[in-house]
Formats: sequence, structure tokens, C-alpha cells
Amino acid sequence: MARPQWTVPAHQVLRVGPDFRLGDLDHRATPGWGAGRTAAKERMAAAGDELSDLQERLFAHGRTGGSRSVLLVLQGMDTSGKGGIVRHVIGMVDPQGVQHRSFGVPTDEEKAHDFLWRIRRALPRPGMIGVFDRSQYEDVLVPRVHETVPAEIWEERYERIVDFEREVVASGTTIVKVVLAISPEEQRERLAARLDRPDKHWKYDPGDLDERLLRPRYAEAYQAVLDRTSTDLAPWHAVPADRKWYARLAVSELLLHGLEELRLEWPAANFDVEAEKARLAAQPW
Ligand code: AMP
Ligand code: MG
Repeated sequence: MARPQWTVPAHQVLRVGPDFRLGDLDHRATPGWGAGRTAAKERMAAAGDELSDLQERLFAHGRTGGSRSVLLVLQGMDTSGKGGIVRHVIGMVDPQGVQHRSFGVPTDEEKAHDFLWRIRRALPRPGMIGVFDRSQYEDVLVPRVHETVPAEIWEERYERIVDFEREVVASGTTIVKVVLAISPEEQRERLAARLDRPDKHWKYDPGDLDERLLRPRYAEAYQAVLDRTSTDLAPWHAVPADRKWYARLAVSELLLHGLEELRLEWPAANFDVEAEKARLAAQPW
């Protein structure tokens, strides 16, 4: 039997274009994938093998003077599954090739700098896959929703971010931007599950419920992000995330596409392979 395939590639079907409306998204949908959950697990295992191979090529490229890297940016409300993506998708590749960073409420040191300061410092080095669990986008979400920063300050950040990303892409980094979109019903269930399970209490923050009430304002703020920062150089992808298996499959595929686009070959040996074989053969043990 032929392997199940995407009917439309994830990077096309999930890409946020100018007419995209977050409010119209069906959170339980599985765009581009009609083969169901079991087949998705199979496909994901295959994608994992491909990811792992390409990640190693990227790493080798970095070790031999190459400048390329890939940055996965994950945004989404609490319980949208960002941590699960890191475990299940990024977990499929060699950890030494991954630079993971999660961004929380800015520290005093971070607050003393421009909002992009902590972001620049966390960018992936050549040869690496960078993962941002939250990102520069928190600075046009939280302050806008909570009105903690004057509008004229956060207003200009959209353009600052677009310029910044242009610079990052020009330096050799492919940016894969993903927003994980869950429904309020699914979020309620996931929060309830956290409350029911002592092994999940560490993840629960009473403040999450206050944030949840602000959902309409977050929806508006996310829509502005998508409208103003989904560029050809660094487009957004909106992933329906009520079904965890779909979200994980979709992000694997988006990351895989980003790596494939680099079209990296294995670096050529910088020594004489035949001469080294002969030398090894001539050694006494
Ligand atoms: P968590 O991802 O559960 O560890 O939570 C991190 C928290 O930090 C979330 O509530 C974010 O909204 C918050 N956060 C991250 N970046 C910023 C920022 N730049 N300004 C304000 N809050 C932020
Ligand atoms: Mg949290």
C-alpha cells in the first residue's frame, strides 16, 4: 500500500495569506491531511527520519563554514501545545543540533534593553535549528492586550519585527513561523485536565484563567500580527491545534520543508580519502 500523503503540502495549505481570518478557522480541522490519526503517526515517523538526516546535514554544513540555519517560531495561547511540539517534533532530531529558547515575562535585565535584544541573542548559530517557544511577537501581544505600553510604542514594533526578520533571513536563517490555534472549549478541557492531575499542577498558573478571559482581545492582537507580519520572506502558518496529532504532524512537515529548501549536500572531504584509507590499512592495528 502506498504511504499516506498530504493532499496539499502543509506549507501551502496552512500559509497565512492576506485574506486569512483567524476567527474563521476550524480548530478541529486537519487541512491537507485526510488520512486520519493512525496514518499520521506513520507519516510522522517517516518525517522524523528525514528531519534527522537533514538536521545532520545542516549541522555538518555549519561545522564546515556554512552560514545557514533554521528558526522555528512557536506562538499560541496557554495549553495550545507548544511544549508538546518541542518534545515530539524537535525530539526527533539530535539535541546537539538544537538551540531551544522559551521566552517568559521579561527579566529586569531584559526590560532594560530594546525588546529585540533578548531575541537577537537567542538566534540560532550557523548549522543549528533554533526553536523559540514564544518570541518577539509576545511584545505586540501582551502589551497591546494589557495596555502596559503606550500604543505608539507597540504600533511601531510590527514594522521593526518585519525589518528584523528580513535581516535574519539575509544572514542565512530560514524562519518557519507557526501559530497553534486552539478553541476555547479545548483550552477549557486542557486546563481542567491540568487541575485534575497532580503531575500537571506545576504547569498551571492561576493567571492563565485571567488571560483566558481576555481571549477576544488576544484574538484581535493575533489577527493584527498575522495581517502585518506574514511576509513572503517569513510567512506565518496557522495550525488548527485541537487535535494534537495533527498539530505535531503539521509542524514536522513545515520544519521538514524549511530544511529541504536549503538543498544541502554533505560537505566534501577536505582531505584525500584514498590516501587516508591507504594510511589506515598500513597501520599495524
Ligand atoms: P509560559 O509559556 O507558560 O512559561 O508563560 C510565559 C508567560 O510569559 C506568558 O504568560 C507570556 O505571555 C509571558 N510573556 C512572554 N514574553 C512576554 C513579553 N515580552 N511581555 C510580557 N509577557 C511576556
Ligand atoms: Mg503557561
